[in-house]
Amino acid sequence: MSARILTPDADAIEASIAQLAGIVDDSEEGWTRQVFSDPYKLSRESVAERMREAGLEVHVDGGGNIVGRLAGTRGGELKPLMTGSHTDTVRAGGRFDGIVGVLGAIEAVAAMRRAGVQLQRDLYVVDFLGEEPNEFGVSCVGSRSVAGVLLPEHLDMRGTSGATLGGTMERFGLDPQRALANAWQPGALHAYIELHIEQGPMLERSGDQIGVVTAIAGIDRLMATFTGRQDHAGATPMDARMDALTAAASAVLTIEREGCGAPVHGVATTGRIEAYPGSFNIVPSEARLWAELRSTDSEWLSGVKGRLAKEIGEEAERRGVGLMIEWLTDQDAVPTSPAIRDIIARSADRLGYSWKPVPSGAGHDAAHLAHLGPMAMIFIPSVGGRSHAPEEFTPTDDIVRGVDVLIDVLTELDRAEALLA
Ligand SMILES: [Zn+2]
Repeated sequence: MSARILTPDADAIEASIAQLAGIVDDSEEGWTRQVFSDPYKLSRESVAERMREAGLEVHVDGGGNIVGRLAGTRGGELKPLMTGSHTDTVRAGGRFDGIVGVLGAIEAVAAMRRAGVQLQRDLYVVDFLGEEPNEFGVSCVGSRSVAGVLLPEHLDMRGTSGATLGGTMERFGLDPQRALANAWQPGALHAYIELHIEQGPMLERSGDQIGVVTAIAGIDRLMATFTGRQDHAGATPMDARMDALTAAASAVLTIEREGCGAPVHGVATTGRIEAYPGSFNIVPSEARLWAELRSTDSEWLSGVKGRLAKEIGEEAERRGVGLMIEWLTDQDAVPTSPAIRDIIARSADRLGYSWKPVPSGAGHDAAHLAHLGPMAMIFIPSVGGRSHAPEEFTPTDDIVRGVDVLIDVLTELDRAEALLA
């Protein structure tokens, strides 16, 4: 048995994750490093330094992404590879979401250098700016910028503090106009690959070590407004009401039922509900709810959109309540590249790791990078399926296996001729 020369250093990975976990907002629970915050600014300097130590040439691009380049022997003639993720967190989040994809990629480069392995293609390792949703309602700011889907209207979005995204970027030391002009050409990448924690329970349930992501879920968000009649809650008989809130409550259950009926991976969530005038003794005249549907199955998504409008509308009508549904966003499901999925599966087999195809219910920078070339993702298990919470945890052994596969996939992709998207 020949010893493998290209292996990640478990201690280095663990130490780098622990170090980044120390740069957080201490006034919050868990780990909080939100985009544009002081801890985020500090942590980015440490990520850039770590990239340099691994042998990458580092710069901050027009979109505020920290980009480390490892020059390939034929970098001038072949399309480059890209890998990465994000190091910002949600409020009271964890230590692994996004972070393993950045620090794992840096360790992959360090391992290649230790082993004296040189790629033919240039490899870009990217820490994308602000992947998590922020007060402006714009997630994936940096990856949108690279992919050419960051728009002027995104920069004009106003947050809870009254500032715009563009203004906030400027205060963070970035030029918003440069962020709009930062896009790579479609087709410019040979491949994009992202290592990430699963953030759900499927790998843990099946006992598999590596997830080969099949697709990143599409999202449809809606706001439904129910209009009834304001009446005295004591004097108005139950059969003489036009109660906007009970119509909305019934809609919450309809939305849940549709989510439960999804064939592949589909979920439906009502996250917020409001009633007006909002008093014990008044039958609500108006109610609003905000809900979202997510699935990797575009057909299911569009089907459920139509069914929801019909079912909720019929129930509201039965209650004498008017309904208006406004679809706020729709983001299509993004399938990963079958060619890269095969490469990931073969790498896992070769390294002796069990793997399983899994959908991604969460959004990722990778979804935007699909504009630039074939894209895929490698998942590693999340203990208890927990994420976006302080309890988020992935043992070092699992992270090492993920980085091991990432290294192998990068070297395979480097050798591969043009991949079909
Ligand atoms: Zn993430």
